Order: sequence, then C-alpha cells, then structure tokens
Amino acid sequence: MLTLGAVVLGAVALGSSPALADAPASAAHEPASTVDQIAEALREDPVLVQQVLGNGDAAGAEQRIRDAIAGSAHPVYVALVADPGGLADKFPARDLARKLHNRLGDGYFVVRVTRSILEVEGWGVPEPVSVSLAKSEAVEAVRQTNDHFEPGRLRVTTPAEAQIAAEIAAAGEPFAMEPERAVEIARLPGNVSVEPYSMLDDDREPTTSGKRAVVATVVGAGVLLVGLRLLLWLTAPRRRGPARAPAPWTPTDLDLSDLVSRAEKEATRLSRDLAKAPAGPDADTAVGYKEAAEVVLRDLVSRAEPGDRRYGAQLRDAVGALVLARAGRAVLEGDDPRPCFSHPLHGRATGRAEVVGRRAVVVPACAQCAASIKAGKAPDALVFAHPAQRRPRPYYEERSLWARTGYGALDDTLWSTVLAARAGARQ
Ligand SMILES: [Zn+2]
Repeated sequence: MLTLGAVVLGAVALGSSPALADAPASAAHEPASTVDQIAEALREDPVLVQQVLGNGDAAGAEQRIRDAIAGSAHPVYVALVADPGGLADKFPARDLARKLHNRLGDGYFVVRVTRSILEVEGWGVPEPVSVSLAKSEAVEAVRQTNDHFEPGRLRVTTPAEAQIAAEIAAAGEPFAMEPERAVEIARLPGNVSVEPYSMLDDDREPTTSGKRAVVATVVGAGVLLVGLRLLLWLTAPRRRGPARAPAPWTPTDLDLSDLVSRAEKEATRLSRDLAKAPAGPDADTAVGYKEAAEVVLRDLVSRAEPGDRRYGAQLRDAVGALVLARAGRAVLEGDDPRPCFSHPLHGRATGRAEVVGRRAVVVPACAQCAASIKAGKAPDALVFAHPAQRRPRPYYEERSLWARTGYGALDDTLWSTVLAARAGARQ
C-alpha cells in the first residue's frame, strides 16, 4: 500500500528521473539494505541515518543524534532507513523495531522506514510509550510556533524528530522536552527543511539534483507534514489563470447531542472489542484511539446550545470523537483507519481521489466521493455552518487540528496528535 507521502510524491512529479537516484551516496551506510545488515550497522554504531531520510545531511544528522544519546543510561538505537522489504504492511517501522530488538536486545528504538512514520518503541527500558508521547508533544510544540503554517516557517524534519525522540529517551524520566529545546533542535542547520514550499510553487522547479533529493526527502517527512502541505495547497488561492467559481457549499445537517451519543456508543463498542482483542501493536494503537476519543468526549459532557459560542467547536470535536472511536475499531479489524477526506463521517476511505487545488493532489476517499470527484463534481464535503455573513466552507479549509489532519485522512496517528494537542492545551 502506498503511503500518502508516496502518493503525493507521485502526484507532483518531481521530474522524470527517480528523485533520489543522483543523491550522493553515503558509502559507509548504503549497503545496510536488509534487516540483518541494519542490525549489524547498529551494533557498530547505534545511529543509522540513510541518505533517503537524512534531509540532505545524513552524516550531520547521525552526529547530532549520537551526541544526543551519549550519556544515556539505556541503549538508544536510531534507524532512519530505506524500507528493507519483508516488513509488515501495517506499521512497518514498528515491525522493523521488533526485528531489531530480537537481534540487538533491549533498548529504545527510534525507527522510520521510507513508507512509514517515525515510531518510538522500547523493550526492557522505562516507559517507551511516554517517550513517544513526549516526542509527539515536542513536535506539536514546534508546529504551534508555526502560526498557521505560513511559508518559510519551521518544519520538523525526520532527523529533527528522531533527535527529539532520542534526546527525550536518553535524558530519562520524567520524559518530557521543553518546547524551547524542541524548537532549537528543529532550527539546527542540518534539520531545517530546505525550500519547504518549492514543490508547491508552479514557478520554481528544483534546479539541481541535490535540491531535487532534498525536496523528495521533505515530501516523505511524515504524513502529517504532508497533511499540512496538502491543506495549504488545496486552499491557497491560485495566482494565475481564471479564478474558479466558488463551489456553493451547504452546511452539513448535524446534531450535537446525536453525534455525542453516537460517539459514546462507538467508544463503548471499541472498549468491548478491546477486551476481546489479543495483545499486540494493533491493540496498542486501538487503545490510543480509545483514549483520544475519551479525552475529546470528556470535554463534551457539558454541551453548548445551538447559537452558543462553543457550539461550533463542540460540533467539530464530536465528529472527531466519533471518527477516533471508529478508527480504533477499524484497526482491531485489521482495516486501514483512515476516513474519507471530504467527509469523515462517510466512513472508511476505500480508495483515493484526486482533488484539484493549485495542482492535483490525491486524498483518501469513500467510493461515492471518489466517483463525484472523478466526474468533476464537488464531493459531498463536511461543511460546518459559520457565523453570519461568512460563506460556508468545507471543514478542511478551516484552521483546526481536524482540518490539519483531515480527521485522520492525512494523519496515520490521529490519536497521538489529539492526545498531544489536548495535553498541550491543558498546560
Ligand atoms: Zn466521502
């Protein structure tokens, strides 16, 4: 299955030659292309950053991460590598971490392969889940400094995210990172996204092979990052050509009480499913979705009335709670939890659709939305009513966590994003 990153990379067509083919090879590391070779390399040196995920400076990234884990009380292994093949279709990075653990023994494992997000796992060490959550919070803190994703602002590249995770693990309990430190890491010269928006810009093409490689790396830097980019892209006004006639959006008919009670029922079903589910990574992920759904539902106990200032936000959150609980159940059933991007209440995305913004991009879609979009019609998008005088717009044109993540359509770990955001909001 293609990751969204790969799909988008395909859609933007970075040139006819393979984008990474002429990236300078890191002679010392490129041979580690099987799980055994990766383990062997990590036995020699616990940090392995291959060019493909190195943001143009793999050697520099390795050194920064090595420095970060130098004083660690427990082993910390970092592998940012090309997909060695033979990994599980779902959560391939977790699978690789497990396999590396089998070969290397206990420790923290900060792992990403080219078709996955970055994962933090651990065996025989304190609280790997807390390390992972603290990493997500630190990454979110960097994102929040971005002030609505204006071009040229700070991005969290894969090496920066790995360094944040490694540093949190190495520092020991209590696992946390000051937001200022996370921002500092993201600003280190080798960690900064190079020309992060050049791929969005019709007028500028990557000019050198080196730059092309960097752009490809940035595109692969995580589904959520791609999500932000996608959103910006979809919603950015076109600068050339005839203006599109605005689609006549009508607010979706939603009832807060009804949504909350559906979400509560779905969360209960998820709990029941979880009680019967075998332990394992799917169950862990489903627990994450359950916790996120419950955290959102907790804030919906005192419900606003229509017309109340909080009503709109609660409506958006209630949709989120329902989608989170459904996603948890989907994971337990071995399904892809991503919902239809246009309207997450349509249920699981069964395919993909090309949405035309400044350029065509591909998003997860239900069959009906995929068909509408293919026929050149506007999909039946989720549209919230806006206060007086504002033209209704699809939810994904708004500025919210839900818009940024497409209610999970653009974020494979929506549960973790929600938990991190809520934890941040309470501080
Ligand atoms: Zn749909």
